[in-house]
Amino acid sequence: MNDGCRAGRHPAIRREGRAIASSSGVVIGRVKVQMHGRQLVPEHTVNSHLIEQEVARLVAAIEMAAEAVDIERHHLINAGVRDPLMILDMHHMLITDPELLLKTSSRIRHDCINAEWALRLEMDAIQTVFEQIDDEYLRNRKHDIEHACSRILDHLTGAPERPAGIGCLDEYGDEAVIYVSDDVSVSEVVSMWRHKVAGIITELGGADAHNIIVARGIGLPALVGASGILNDIHDGDSLVLDAEQNVWILNPPQNEQAAYTKFKAAISISQKDLEAFAVKPSLSADGHELKLMANIEFPEELELAEQIGIDGIGLYRSEFLFINESSMPDEACQYEQYVKLIHRMDGKPVTMRLLDVGGDRPWLYSDLAGHDYAGANPAMGLRGLRLLLRNPELLSIHLSAMLRAAEHGPVRILAPMVTTSQEMEQLRDIAAQCKVRLGITQAVPIGSMIEVPSAAIMADAMAGVSDFFSIGTNDLLQYTLAADRNDEEVADLYQSGAAALKQLIMQTAAAAKKAAIPVSVCGELAADPEWTATFLNLDMEYLSMSASSILGIRRYLSRLTYQP
Ligand code: PEP
Ligand code: MG
Repeated sequence: MNDGCRAGRHPAIRREGRAIASSSGVVIGRVKVQMHGRQLVPEHTVNSHLIEQEVARLVAAIEMAAEAVDIERHHLINAGVRDPLMILDMHHMLITDPELLLKTSSRIRHDCINAEWALRLEMDAIQTVFEQIDDEYLRNRKHDIEHACSRILDHLTGAPERPAGIGCLDEYGDEAVIYVSDDVSVSEVVSMWRHKVAGIITELGGADAHNIIVARGIGLPALVGASGILNDIHDGDSLVLDAEQNVWILNPPQNEQAAYTKFKAAISISQKDLEAFAVKPSLSADGHELKLMANIEFPEELELAEQIGIDGIGLYRSEFLFINESSMPDEACQYEQYVKLIHRMDGKPVTMRLLDVGGDRPWLYSDLAGHDYAGANPAMGLRGLRLLLRNPELLSIHLSAMLRAAEHGPVRILAPMVTTSQEMEQLRDIAAQCKVRLGITQAVPIGSMIEVPSAAIMADAMAGVSDFFSIGTNDLLQYTLAADRNDEEVADLYQSGAAALKQLIMQTAAAAKKAAIPVSVCGELAADPEWTATFLNLDMEYLSMSASSILGIRRYLSRLTYQP
């Protein structure tokens, strides 16, 4: 590896740590640090005759920063990349906010200080206001202020433009680039993948956070919860990301790098063996079928899913269709997207989940929940079906688009965050009205996600108002164990709490059998080989998981025997 970029700067000290892996794979590459944290600046006073010059510098830096965002925007649009646009638009709005210019220039004039210092003080003041907001989502917007305004600081200090998640990767030639950050958003994960970033490591994050589920879906090796990795790390450091053994190694010596290169080659050989399962059916050793389907957020994930021969889409997380929208698209626009997906599946079943907005998916939230509602605890407030039932008109549009799309192929509609059977009754009534209005006579099954403990406990009653069950183990674990799925500090509870979860799953499967309705699993446990035998023996109709996990589970299933 080329070590030129570190020459004379600091000694390469080896460090390692453990983390939570989002998916499999090993990457040996170069570090690119992307901090969302606080940027420091030079601070000095300015003679009064130079004050207006300082204000002019600020104005010029704002203009350059805004222009740079515009250029990035056009570049992305030309490349057909949409997901990070929302971030760029927000940055543009924050950078060009007239209040920011007004308040910063008045600090320069009154305190006789340089533009960088004045802007830093103003950024801190705005962030302090955000820190006092109760709502966690709004509170976290302070990071957006830091990201956006740092672009102005960069122009003032002459530092290179920040990559905003899609930075320039050319400087390391053909070497793999691993982004190391405090945290990444879903949009950043997608944009990094599209820009050929080889891997991501973050200090924050838990196993079932959405950024990680997306990384897994697109097959991008990632580690989260890598605490301490950001201490004394530099762009260009060499780094091993080992998502097979959940470890990272910074500045590994030559012999360790060589061992990892061999390990990587061995993995790719076993990957080849795995690829043989792409053309095989999903059967146990004694021929019992357990269908394996894909969880899909973005259409891009279908490329991988198609290569490995999936039995259908077991969970289409429709809320990701709306991730860049400021309001819900109309029925025609939704219908068009759903039909595209159904046609692409060419007769294979698609389970479309209704919008699961709220909790860790805040987009469209204020639109649906009302601008004055923040929710004391977003995971337990208005989320999923609760939120949809508050908006019967939007729900009708959403349902109508799915019901009409169902005329193009085998579709089932799935309700998220169902807590009581009364909620399902209300949903079914609204769906029935939509069908009458649209003149649709075809039966479209409507099922319940079993992901809130009350739904599992009352599974018999729930079966009476559901055409099928889909067990969402990510949320069922979170709510059963009272352990936030995004918090790495409580990640170990997910292991030790498995027995409680198993009891709820068995109860749900028994209720489904009694009512003769199908039951499946669509949470991340569907991809955990330790659970495959349990799911097979409980007669799950299918397991739905990130496409990148399907071949491994199909191979594992082929070694099991059915023991009901
Ligand atoms: C789940 O909760 O298990 C699930 C599949 O839904 P999501 O991860 O989208 O909340
Ligand atoms: Mg869920």
